Amino acid sequence: MNREKFRSVDFLPDPEPDQTRTRNDPTANPGEELHYRCFEDVYQTATTEDHRPSKNPPKKKPSFGHGFSPSQRHVTNVDMMLQCSECDQWRLLFCKTKLSRTQKATLKRIIDDADYTFSATLDEMEFPDDFPDILVRSHRCHDPIESLYYGCSYDVICVHCSTGDHLLHVEDTNPYYPQCQGCMDAGKEKIPRKGGSKD
Ligand SMILES: [Zn+2]
Ligand SMILES: [Zn+2]
Repeated sequence: MNREKFRSVDFLPDPEPDQTRTRNDPTANPGEELHYRCFEDVYQTATTEDHRPSKNPPKKKPSFGHGFSPSQRHVTNVDMMLQCSECDQWRLLFCKTKLSRTQKATLKRIIDDADYTFSATLDEMEFPDDFPDILVRSHRCHDPIESLYYGCSYDVICVHCSTGDHLLHVEDTNPYYPQCQGCMDAGKEKIPRKGGSKD
């Protein structure tokens, strides 16, 4: 290729998602790639910033911030849990300071009003301005109950589904976390207990 010719070569356009069509577009030819606009449409057009991944950052996950390692004390400071509205699993709430009776009442009201699912963040709940930071670990639905729960002398519940019925391995000395007969029958794995909790 001579130099003159090289200069006339266009750069390949950046791929651009096609928002006018879906993968199940009935008008599409079989095998046609529908994810991106077709080459003829984007060739020799300027790439816009609209589809740059960093332009739409993923939703922030709840995080514990620096220097905060959740302990049993942080759990009992709140002494309340969230229940996922999709899988019914209980999720621990953590706070660095012990909530007062009034703060607990406020928090309970906020939680009762909220529709908490694994993908929700506490940022979406409306806390009063001076309310202490309440934290929750990020979870997926049906993730097992956090081990700290079992160090807090709360009701014994199934590690997989939060039920309190038909439980096995209920003694603290059992090498596995409590699990219900239903989850056992469903083939859920036994989860070995972690050694004593740190505070
Ligand atoms: Zn869930
Ligand atoms: Zn269960």
